[in-house]
Amino acid sequence: MAEEIKLDISPMYEGERIRKGDLWVELGGPKADGFELSLATPMDQIEDGKVTVVGPDLGETAEGTTMPFGMVFKVGGEKIEKDLESIIERRNHALLSYISGLMHLNQRYDIWMRIGTNLKKKGVTSWTQIYKPVIDLYKAEMPFIEKMEITIYTDPAEVKKQLANAMAVYAARDERAKGLHDEDVDVFYGCTLCQAFAPTSACVVTPDRPSLCGAITWFDGRAAAKVDPEGPQFPIEKGTAIDAIAGEYEAINQMAEQRSGGEYSVMKLYTFFDAPHTSCGCFETIGFYMPEVDGIGIADRDFKGAAPNGLPFSTMAGQTGGGKQVVGFLGMGVLYYFSPKFLQADGGWDRIVWMSKGLKERVKAGIPEAMFPKIATEADATDIESLKKFLLKVDHPVVNGVSRPVDGAKITEGWKFEDIDDDMKEKVIAFIEATGGDIDTEAVKAKLGMSEGQFMQVVEALQADGVLE
Ligand code: SF4
Repeated sequence: MAEEIKLDISPMYEGERIRKGDLWVELGGPKADGFELSLATPMDQIEDGKVTVVGPDLGETAEGTTMPFGMVFKVGGEKIEKDLESIIERRNHALLSYISGLMHLNQRYDIWMRIGTNLKKKGVTSWTQIYKPVIDLYKAEMPFIEKMEITIYTDPAEVKKQLANAMAVYAARDERAKGLHDEDVDVFYGCTLCQAFAPTSACVVTPDRPSLCGAITWFDGRAAAKVDPEGPQFPIEKGTAIDAIAGEYEAINQMAEQRSGGEYSVMKLYTFFDAPHTSCGCFETIGFYMPEVDGIGIADRDFKGAAPNGLPFSTMAGQTGGGKQVVGFLGMGVLYYFSPKFLQADGGWDRIVWMSKGLKERVKAGIPEAMFPKIATEADATDIESLKKFLLKVDHPVVNGVSRPVDGAKITEGWKFEDIDDDMKEKVIAFIEATGGDIDTEAVKAKLGMSEGQFMQVVEALQADGVLE
């Protein structure tokens, strides 16, 4: 049994970063499996205060190691219901970060933790010495938890097995959330849990606009606000929408202004462009606007290459996070891709031009059938030029202009040239001569790499020059 060690635990350590030079062990993250799971469990099946380690313990781990890691928290109490599982699980982000020498990022299957060498210097040799105080911390912060038992997994095969179980639990939670819509409820929920990392961040969780971290559904928000009214999740009376298509509500604007300390005063739920939702940094996926094609791409954390805009996920995440409204980038949760209101003000799926392949497959059921083959992945397009060719070939809505499905309003004009140079004119003249004036749209796209609208722009310029009648 490892001796008890007094750790430095305080909210002031929340947000502490552990850099490479101070790193003892890295857990999960981009290079290893990692997960966290809380399970509401009957009281008689919990051995209160117990911590079990399955696999090598911390003291057996060499400095600089990256390893798979999983943690399962069994929680019980009279007030504990299934909907509180996610809330307790998500509180890891704050409470584990209270420990000096421990950094916790992300959520669910995406956790990324670092243990600093300062804990080694303190004499820590076992996960038990870290997680026993964590149990006390949870009980102090969430008094409705009456019993708690933790199992830590470090054995790689066991982490894989338990991760698969956890994925099934997350999927069941998400399935439940998909059946409910914004029209069905009078209350949305706000969440400011991530303000320690992103001080102006204020999330809104609605049935049709699930959390960007993917860890909190509307049901979870409701359960948390009920059991812990002073906690980071709180109700927002929905009221009447100012703009139902963009998802603008007076109550959300007021909340945003108040909780962001006046940083912004308008926050709309279903748009990418005009006063979008803030992005704290915990987002499961990132959306990015590409003006060259007037469309939006989306990458997930597993995508390791550069997107067609030339940027990898990590660079875009750096530009997007911090709790600001960043026009051109938006953090989004995976569940949002199944929402009927997904970016509906901007054309929804008709505006999506590129997705990382793994993500596209994962959310296939949420993508309208007609749009699925029109969205490129890294297998189809790796830069703007190859993306343009793909979009022309599949006749993507952005090419000739998007009429948004929600109300039929035409919201983009389609591709247009800003300047028409002599080279373009010569190509079009040669094309017209070769076809004998019998213009076929497919041939224009394939041979000239232009949309119909762009071709007509050049024809009109040639007419203005007096070259064509
Ligand atoms: S990302 Fe938003 S919803 Fe998720 S825990 Fe952080 S503040 Fe809450």
